[in-house]
Amino acid sequence: MTSSTPHYLCPVSTLFHLPCKGGIYNYIRIKENHVETTTLKDTKEQKPVKKRLVLRLFQAKKQKMGMVENEEIVIVGGGIAGLATAVALKRVGFQARVLERHHELRAGGTAISLAPNAWFALRALGVDRKLTSTHQIFTKVVVTNLETGDTQAMAMPMKKDSFRGDDIGVRYVQRKTLLKALAEELPPDTIRFSSKLISIKNETLRDSSKVTALHLDDGSIIKAKVVIGCDGVHSTVAQWLGLSQPLNSGRSAAYGLSVFSEDHGFEMQVRQYLGDSIRAGFIPLNSKEVYWFFFHKSSSFEQEISMSPELILKEVTDNLAKDFPSDFLTVAKHTDLSNLAWGPLRFRAPWNVAFGRTQNGNVTVAGDAMHPMTPDIGQGACSALEDAVVLARCLNQAHTTATDNRQWVENGLKRYVNERRWRVAGVVAGAWLSGTVHQGGCGDQQWWSRATRWFRDRCLYKFVLPKLVDFVWTDCGDLGSPVTQGVKST
Ligand SMILES: Cc1cc2nc3c(=O)[nH]c(=O)nc-3n(C[C@H](O)[C@H](O)[C@H](O)COP(=O)(O)OP(=O)(O)OC[C@H]3O[C@@H](n4cnc5c(N)ncnc54)[C@H](O)[C@@H]3O)c2cc1C
Repeated sequence: MTSSTPHYLCPVSTLFHLPCKGGIYNYIRIKENHVETTTLKDTKEQKPVKKRLVLRLFQAKKQKMGMVENEEIVIVGGGIAGLATAVALKRVGFQARVLERHHELRAGGTAISLAPNAWFALRALGVDRKLTSTHQIFTKVVVTNLETGDTQAMAMPMKKDSFRGDDIGVRYVQRKTLLKALAEELPPDTIRFSSKLISIKNETLRDSSKVTALHLDDGSIIKAKVVIGCDGVHSTVAQWLGLSQPLNSGRSAAYGLSVFSEDHGFEMQVRQYLGDSIRAGFIPLNSKEVYWFFFHKSSSFEQEISMSPELILKEVTDNLAKDFPSDFLTVAKHTDLSNLAWGPLRFRAPWNVAFGRTQNGNVTVAGDAMHPMTPDIGQGACSALEDAVVLARCLNQAHTTATDNRQWVENGLKRYVNERRWRVAGVVAGAWLSGTVHQGGCGDQQWWSRATRWFRDRCLYKFVLPKLVDFVWTDCGDLGSPVTQGVKST
């Protein structure tokens, strides 16, 4: 058995398609209800072990095959949207089950900026103070144009909250810290790990109420009265609803977390660099950790290296950013390779978000499953937090005012998508526009590139961005009627 090879969690259903390279096999092991993977060399000695593992997994899958469970509200996906929605529902008195395909919460990933609108939502969820005490507000962004050498410093949005007297502004939080803060608010066993949704079917019961059957990859079925798809950009629930596939923006992002053994000495401010079809930057999270990103025009080469952190880093430091200022290169060279990723930037067409079917009966979507967007204005997670608050408030209001016992879920979800669709469609469009203009246009047409760069250098920072930031001050409001402790039935 080797432990040096990375371990992948293979869902039970892929048992017979396990990756095999140079005689190395990845296996899943079930140990006291805990699923883990094992890497085995395909030697003669290991064959009996392999056989036993395969047999046990087959038996485990058979046991679960066709097993039917009933749940009131099921949230598919334990990311920021899924956990925030579970917390919001809990605060208005509904209990939800969260299905997460991985065996634990996503521990990796880097940091995200949370703008004032996210802090208003986190306040409604009751978790803002856990994070504001340990994360400072950023007040300044320094932007360097790599072609002209010009540097502009701009103030970031910040105000005093008239209600509580706290300062509200943009703070950078590590994803895992945010996920942990949300998960702590949930009763134990809310999140069911290693539970991947593979398909959905609708059923109508004898009393004409509807349930949705969720088929999981371990063969089990969950019948739910309400289903909320928070399963990210490649959402199975969004596909089932008939929403269009996210579009590729033609741009990609490499992003990482750098760890210094001693104080890095950078000022606590956002640094950004703009070049020919490039936008990059770094943000110190504390005296030892720095988050960095590098947005650029996609190339076919990146697919080949996207699974290797070493090659991603080499491509950034030795090629894409080789002529960047030394500060950026110093940061990139300190990257913790377990916290480095690269991928294409996708978004859903804004008109599909506004007019597409984001709800059908008792099924809806939230977060990236509803409105995947490019990260150019840092609003994906902020919008997901808003979704959570609005969704729980709408369901709660529909439940409180219901006259028809069967219709209130559908009414609540309709109210939710109607309240959200225009705002998030606008944010998706704003993010795409900002990204295209910031990077000086990524098209192959020279005139388009020149026009967007002219607009960026003369108009974007002076006139457009100050207006765009206004919308980050929108407060999605609270959860409605007094926060409850009990559990309501759907
Ligand atoms: C480079 C980059 C920088 C960004 N920066 C910012 C920023 O600064 N500020 C900001 O607000 N946003 C930012 N974003 C956007 C933000 O990361 C996303 O909008 C946010 O993570 C969306 O959360 P989510 O829960 O909707 O989706 P995800 O985080 O993708 O979570 C989906 C979850 O569902 C699970 N899942 C998927 N399919 C299934 C299934 N079939 N069954 C069960 N579980 C399933 C996944 O395992 C995952 O845990 C950035 C994005 C990128 C790429």
